[in-house]
Amino acid sequence: MPFRGPSDLHLHSDRSDGTESPTGVMEAARAEGIRTAALTDHDTTAGWDEAAEAARARGMSFLPGMELSTRREWRSIHILAYLFDPDDPALRREIERIRRSRRDRIEEMVTRIGRDYTLSLADVLTEGTDDATVGRPHIADALVRAGIVADRSAAFADILSPRGPYYVSLYAPDPLVAVQLVADAGGVAIMAHPASRAGQLATRDLDEMVSAGLAGFELGHRENSGAHLRMLRAYCATGDLIVTGSSDYHGAGKPNRPGEHTTDDEMVARILEAGAGTAPTLG
Ligand code: AMP
Ligand code: FE
Ligand code: FE
Ligand code: ZN
Repeated sequence: MPFRGPSDLHLHSDRSDGTESPTGVMEAARAEGIRTAALTDHDTTAGWDEAAEAARARGMSFLPGMELSTRREWRSIHILAYLFDPDDPALRREIERIRRSRRDRIEEMVTRIGRDYTLSLADVLTEGTDDATVGRPHIADALVRAGIVADRSAAFADILSPRGPYYVSLYAPDPLVAVQLVADAGGVAIMAHPASRAGQLATRDLDEMVSAGLAGFELGHRENSGAHLRMLRAYCATGDLIVTGSSDYHGAGKPNRPGEHTTDDEMVARILEAGAGTAPTLG
């Protein structure tokens, strides 16, 4: 096999809401013993080149990836995409639409928060976020810097809660559309943390997505739990689908550590086999 485990296929850098550079992320993964890694920033491929080079320099294998924001009704569904063509026009258009909406939405949320707290857009959008995909974590970090909350988790529990008065939703495509876009761009689509509280889909919805090209499910993830996870284990076994496990590392932004969940070699091999839009860096 041209790559070596352990493999962690879900990591975020400061190109979205992680706190470290792509190089720093590969460094952190390597320090935890990871030999094959994917960078999966939200709605952007901006970190790929740097991460690939950092992985190569450390003798690691690298899979280019991305975590797409999607929504069905109130459910926020994240679709991990691997090895797709980053220049695919339809996918690019959709990502740009999401990213634009994320900027507008941050502005609106900061306006609302600014009525009750001393916070401005300039506090949130700093040099470090210039071409990054921005999200609520960036508002959280500004609230921490201002001494308003202790850490990101405290911000999410209160000021940034979807049930609170400051929340604004972002534009996101339906997950079925996202799966089709990824498949059409030669990529491998895996549903991220599918048994988390952010949104669980019924089997008939999953069937439809698998028919459209959804290749598998990230069952190893700290936010998965309960009966839905047990159902998905059986669902993946029956359908012979790809099963992954990953950390969802965000640097200092979350407690998740690289390698806390990993993906079996056999499953990594299936992703490498299925991905046709861009080449991995094997080392
Ligand atoms: P957004 O996509 O802008 O609505 O923000 C959601 C992102 O915030 C997710 O991708 C997570 O990485 C992050 N997030 C969600 N909950 C928490 C939390 N409790 N602590 C830190 N980060 C979180
Ligand atoms: Fe995130
Ligand atoms: Fe996610
Ligand atoms: Zn993630």
